[in-house]
Amino acid sequence: MSERYDDMDFKEVDENGNNITGDASKELTDDKKNDEDGYEQYCYLCKRPESMVGRLIHLPNDIYICQDCMQKTFDGISGGNMQFIDISNLDMSNFDFSRFGNMNMPKSQRVKKKAKKEKKVEEELNLQNIPAPHKIKAMLDDYVIGQEYAKKVISVAVYNHYKRVITNTMDDIEIDKSNMLMIGPTGCGKTHLVKTLARLLNVPLAITDATSLTEAGYIGDDVESVISKLLAAADNDVEKAERGIVFIDEIDKIAKKRNTNSRDVSGESVQQGLLKLLEGSEVEVPVGATSKNAMVPLATVNTRNILFICGGAFPELEKIVKNRLLKSSTMGFNSELKDKFDDEDDLLAQTTMEDLREFGMIPEFIGRLPIVYSLKHLDKDSMIKILKEPKNAILKQYQKLLALDEVDLEFDDSALEAIAEQALEKKTGARALRAIIEKFMLDIMYQIPRDENIGRVTINRDYIEGKGVPVLEMRGVEVPKLSS
Ligand code: ADP
Repeated sequence: MSERYDDMDFKEVDENGNNITGDASKELTDDKKNDEDGYEQYCYLCKRPESMVGRLIHLPNDIYICQDCMQKTFDGISGGNMQFIDISNLDMSNFDFSRFGNMNMPKSQRVKKKAKKEKKVEEELNLQNIPAPHKIKAMLDDYVIGQEYAKKVISVAVYNHYKRVITNTMDDIEIDKSNMLMIGPTGCGKTHLVKTLARLLNVPLAITDATSLTEAGYIGDDVESVISKLLAAADNDVEKAERGIVFIDEIDKIAKKRNTNSRDVSGESVQQGLLKLLEGSEVEVPVGATSKNAMVPLATVNTRNILFICGGAFPELEKIVKNRLLKSSTMGFNSELKDKFDDEDDLLAQTTMEDLREFGMIPEFIGRLPIVYSLKHLDKDSMIKILKEPKNAILKQYQKLLALDEVDLEFDDSALEAIAEQALEKKTGARALRAIIEKFMLDIMYQIPRDENIGRVTINRDYIEGKGVPVLEMRGVEVPKLSS
């Protein structure tokens, strides 16, 4: 049974499949061929390809073994006492290869290589290429409708933040961190704004919901999980993650609970837990998992240069602001001024730290979010613009889909108004738009490709309101009917 390989000609192939020891000339051409025809060697024992297991060891009779299997074989022989350090330096002359099991040689030990994903060459942020605030805002304008003030504040804050990150300190004057708090009703574009920003700046972004966070040790994610998410978004590149953006949504949900006797593990404690992250600290986070355990490696991430943006709807905050404004302006004229601020639609813009404190945010937490601004409710006009103007507007997406079938899709103004009106009724901001459009586009997307003669579809208010049908134009003739 046992076979000995006394005069072993030991050969290794490097990452590129090129032979690097022994008589290289023949193998070099073989391996070159491997590269050219897109094939690679695989391990004779575990069958994993070279691209997965790393450099393979080339044994006589054209057997390739990976280093793991080689080590296992050694362990089997020596009871785990033999350490496999560098196989190429080992004297293999007395090695008993029968341990590899049945040595029926495969005809060819090659498999098709998986196509490698092309790595994008990413431009590093530096002082020269951080776009100036007006440029950041202009880029945001292409995707985010309205919210002019918010876009301006965020552009300046981000510009300053990255200047601070890149220069580190300026003549001993350390620039403060520009963490932000965004206040605005649901569906007004908070997440959309941050996502667009991260994409334009090409920095990693992690979005977390504050409601899923709890104090460490309780059921739920602990606060450090947000940094693991960021690390994952940065492809586990710590340096890249350290200049990323973390967006914590629903931050109003971690306000201090009032009238509670039990421990507030998902409210005040989470705010306390976030303090050190917002300020800047070294956090040990698991790589590739959201919780620490013995099986996952840890990476240390410094949060000093991570930009934290918190967002929330703060539902009762308007009342708090109104009461404060009333209190300060009712000296002597109480009854007359009671409804003074009722129609003011921009009460949130007048939010102060005091109001946020009253809402239930702890002072240390608000103190670490120096930039506070609000986003506005979207009105009908903005809704219509959101439908058609952004670079990736929903209507443009449907138009593109139908254009591939060579059909023009048109929406007349009355249709857009009807969609916007329906969306406003739902009170979920622009989020409602997609749901409404998807509902009535289903029939169109189903029926139109059925008939190759249709050249144009025009959607009108009647169709949106369920009272009529869209206008169809055949290629050449006009037929105002759609069977559904
Ligand atoms: P929230 O403020 O609740 O975070 P989102 O940002 O998630 O709201 O908005 C929901 C969707 O509505 C987004 O995906 C985006 O397509 C659209 N949207 C909301 N506001 C705007 C806006 N100002 N401009 C363009 N699209 C918007």
